[in-house]
Amino acid sequence: MTSIFDRDCRRCPRLAGFLDDVKTKYPDYYCGPVPPFGDPEARFLIVGLAPGMHGANRTGRPFTGDHAGILLYRMLNAFGFSTADESVAADDALRLIDSRITNAVKCLPPQNKPVGAEINTCNEFLAAELAALQPGSVVLALGGIAHQAVVRALGARQADHKFGHAAEHNLDARFVLLDSYHCSRYNTNTRRLTTTMFEDVFRRARELVRQS
Ligand code: SF4
Repeated sequence: MTSIFDRDCRRCPRLAGFLDDVKTKYPDYYCGPVPPFGDPEARFLIVGLAPGMHGANRTGRPFTGDHAGILLYRMLNAFGFSTADESVAADDALRLIDSRITNAVKCLPPQNKPVGAEINTCNEFLAAELAALQPGSVVLALGGIAHQAVVRALGARQADHKFGHAAEHNLDARFVLLDSYHCSRYNTNTRRLTTTMFEDVFRRARELVRQS
C-alpha cells in the first residue's frame, strides 16, 4: 500500500525543478513536499490545494506562515479542533485535536496552479490518506480542485459529485465530504468566502464529527 507521504518524492518533474529554483533563491525555505499536519487518528481531515510559496513552502507545515491559514486556524480553534488560534511556525506549540490538514498536491506549484498530471500523480498519497480514515470521519475540501482530488482518489465520477460551497457528499462509507470555498486571501478579500460562511461550514463539520 502507498504511504501517505514521501519527503523525497520528485515524481512531478516540473514541481521538483521549480522547488530546486526556489531553494536557490530562498535557501532558508523548506522547499519540498509538505507533510500532512495533525492527529494521525483524526476524524476531521481538511484538504487544501497545495503549499503556498511563502507559507507552507517556507515553514514546512500546511497553511502556516501566510494569509491562507489565518481564518482556517482561527476556525479550528473556535470549534475545538486545535490548541491555539494561530499557526506561526512548524515548531510552535500549536496542536491539532482530532483533526489533520493535508494538501491535494504536496509540492509548491508555480503561480499556485498545479497541472492535471501533477494533481493525478500526487493523488496516490491522498488516496492512501483517505483509505486510512476511520468510519464516521469528515473530509473538508477547500476549493474545487481539492474536491475533485478527493472524488478522484475514491474512483468516483466527477459528474455525480459536483463541488458546491457547503455541499455534502456521501461517496464513501468512512466519511462525509464537505465542501467550502478555499480560504485564500483572494476569496476572503473579495468576500466570496466570508467569516460567517466559513463558520457555518465548521459548525456543520463539528456536528458531523460529534454524531459519529
Ligand atoms: S506533488 Fe506529490 S507526486 Fe508530485 S513530486 Fe510533489 S509529492 Fe511527489
